[in-house]
Amino acid sequence: MDHRQRPLQTTPPARVGHSESSAVESPAHTETCPVASGLAPYGNAALVEDHDLASWDPSMECDGGASEAAYRARWAFDQVAAGNASVQSPDDVLVLPPELVQGVQAAWDASLPAGRAQEQGGIFVRNSDGSYEWERGAPGSAGAFTPNHADVADDETLVGVGHTHPYAAHEGGHTDVSFSGGDIGAMATDPDNLQVVQSGESRFLVSRTAEFDALLAGLDDAGRLVLRREIEDFWDRQYTGAPGTLPEAAEIATRATCERYHLLYYRGRGSALDRVETRPTP
Ligand SMILES: [Zn+2]
Repeated sequence: MDHRQRPLQTTPPARVGHSESSAVESPAHTETCPVASGLAPYGNAALVEDHDLASWDPSMECDGGASEAAYRARWAFDQVAAGNASVQSPDDVLVLPPELVQGVQAAWDASLPAGRAQEQGGIFVRNSDGSYEWERGAPGSAGAFTPNHADVADDETLVGVGHTHPYAAHEGGHTDVSFSGGDIGAMATDPDNLQVVQSGESRFLVSRTAEFDALLAGLDDAGRLVLRREIEDFWDRQYTGAPGTLPEAAEIATRATCERYHLLYYRGRGSALDRVETRPTP
């Protein structure tokens, strides 16, 4: 189906003659200190066993160590969620809030009813008290999910959308399938600061940036739609020409598209996602 004609998220289409293989490695990350961020991290400390965020004192923590790195990664997610990311100064690790992890995991768990692929998803919002919340959307189809953006209440701020990429056994049973061109293209027209996809155990995140927003500056709705289609077409060309399996081709196309359009790209399993280097290796 031609997803350019409708405001839907889609899975990468099937590719003939390719078999499943392992996921692509992500780069290592560095640790820096979040002192003077001026922005509180989200409030659930369950992810950081040795660390009570309610009593966190930056002057005591910035001597290195696991607590500092964990705090930084959670702070980094807040920045991305608020639309404050830049390709000039990206954080190398994001830790997803538990509400988001639980939301997309529940979506994934419902994505292969009776062995049929059915995309599921929802939106992720920030409440006025700074807490986060997942709001489940209506079930999608085998290859598309319609974001429930209208579910943002007056006292909530939209952070982004999450959805799944399931493939039934007869479709190859693929997992670890990253974004589609339709997903990434929607960043040009939709209000999301980030998008998350879950496929099997893998979670993928794409973040809006100041540099991407600069591409949108001055564009009206029609102009944004043109850019959306350009992004989709670029992804499609990379995907069609890529070697490897369906998940590998989607990864290659997503990296190239994020690099070209100045979006940040993260992936991982669990709650911590590593930034993926999107510049092509020489
Ligand atoms: Zn999708």
